[in-house]
Amino acid sequence: MKHQQIKMEKMKHIALVAHDNKKDDLLEWASFNKETLRRHMLYATGTTGWILQEALGLPIHRMLSGPLGGDQQIGAKIAEGEIDCLIFFWDPLLAQPHDPDVKALLRLAVVWNIPIATNRTTADFIISSPLMGGEYTRLLVDYEEYKERLNHQYGEGASQ
Ligand code: PGA
Repeated sequence: MKHQQIKMEKMKHIALVAHDNKKDDLLEWASFNKETLRRHMLYATGTTGWILQEALGLPIHRMLSGPLGGDQQIGAKIAEGEIDCLIFFWDPLLAQPHDPDVKALLRLAVVWNIPIATNRTTADFIISSPLMGGEYTRLLVDYEEYKERLNHQYGEGASQ
């Protein structure tokens, strides 16, 4: 299978999302790692971003609240290559009204092969990795063949 190479710069664009029962967990984690997070560009869903911004005093690009579309906005940024890493503490014990959005966000993170932490231990491993503070070339499945198939089937220009 062919791959494309995507360069990730030293300064990463990190998206932070936490469901309500996990917000304290994320806040504690982010406070502990504040000095590392300061070196990167931060994004978050609405309420998560507000809490982190107030507590840490770091600039955060806030989306809408998750259930109102914030997860989808983060997902769109991943697809557009604007997010390098997703820290998403989702709640495995509570059904969410926006469950399809949660699934979509996790799916897009896999499609675009970015690092994803869905619990605190993985987040610790990711944030302490030397790759976090350095450049990294990530391999991406080359979707050109997929696009060519669309162009062949529907006409040149069908795929973006
Ligand atoms: P919130 O969204 O940060 O606005 O609470 C998180 C989520 O539920 O996806």
